[in-house]
Amino acid sequence: MDMNRHEFQLDDLIERIKANDNRLVALQVPEGLKMQALEMMDTIEEDTSARIILAADPCYGACDLVHDKMQRMGVELVAHMGHSQMNIDSGMPTEFINVTYDGDPAIDPVLPILEQHRRIAESRLSRVEEDRQMSEEEAKELFVDAVGRVSPLKGTKLGLVGSIQHLHLIFEYKERLEAVGYEVEIPVGGARLSFPGQVLGCNYSGDSDEIGHYLFLGSGDFHPIGLVLHTGKPLAMLDPYTGGAEEMSFGRIEKILRQRFGLIMSCDEAKSFGILIGEKPGQMRRNLALRMKRKIEKHGKKGYLLALEHIGPELIDFYPVDAFVNTACPRIAIDDSVRYAKPLITPFELEVALGEKKWELGYKFDEIP
Ligand code: SF4
Repeated sequence: MDMNRHEFQLDDLIERIKANDNRLVALQVPEGLKMQALEMMDTIEEDTSARIILAADPCYGACDLVHDKMQRMGVELVAHMGHSQMNIDSGMPTEFINVTYDGDPAIDPVLPILEQHRRIAESRLSRVEEDRQMSEEEAKELFVDAVGRVSPLKGTKLGLVGSIQHLHLIFEYKERLEAVGYEVEIPVGGARLSFPGQVLGCNYSGDSDEIGHYLFLGSGDFHPIGLVLHTGKPLAMLDPYTGGAEEMSFGRIEKILRQRFGLIMSCDEAKSFGILIGEKPGQMRRNLALRMKRKIEKHGKKGYLLALEHIGPELIDFYPVDAFVNTACPRIAIDDSVRYAKPLITPFELEVALGEKKWELGYKFDEIP
């Protein structure tokens, strides 16, 4: 990955600091860009009279904004880099700084995958009714189709999405794909998302039943895994850093779903649960946690509410409960559960374990709206 091709748009921040005559500013930088943080601090300090404090704790999203603890340090403004504004109030004035990457890969490598996925979408569309009438036993066997059952198809359009540093290219890619015969939709999601085509690891709200398959512009499998778990639709990936194309295989998704089902089963006999509440402003789902506690108690079991800023095995494994329900970042349960000594499940999975929801009717991805 060529980091020099990332563009950091610091001009607006520098203007705002000068206009407000800010003296102490906190800079928050995602993990992948932290190597360049000191360089950015130099630039801002050279161009303004502010002193910059790097908020050096791990930061994986705009859900994790620096909040009031920095106010007590005298910080007047937070500069948050590489993520977009969400529907949350951290209680601190915050400037969001765009980071874009100018990688512009050719679409040729991804076209054979897209063609195959379009055929899958067409065949699914033709048997939507049959799928709806599938028996519970059949659905249990077909994990991936069980995901698809919660989002029945009405079309076979190509949904074009990306991670934030590549979204400035998305309308150009739409034209390129239309020129080779695809009907392309750039999904527009809810209040947690700022841009057309944007997806987060916890929010794919732009999905529509007109979309039959996806192309993700970005690197890594974090967003693709969530999108396929959420929709059950085939997804191809085009990586602007390498120019490479691949697909998120259904085999991989099926493996994750089998693991999720195994964790639900292992909560069958659980008598006590730790219910995790994230303290980060954009992860805090107190009402959901309280609702889960009521459900657990309704079934004659014990539920303990545990609030944490960061969540890790060393911070919770020792509690004498049988399992944990996570209401903080949904990806902690989905991506990291193997790191924990006890089952770590999502709220939907708890409802399945308690017999209140049916797995066979479709897996419900834990989305933060
Ligand atoms: S996936 Fe997790 S870390 Fe990323 S924005 Fe959502 S809550 Fe935050």
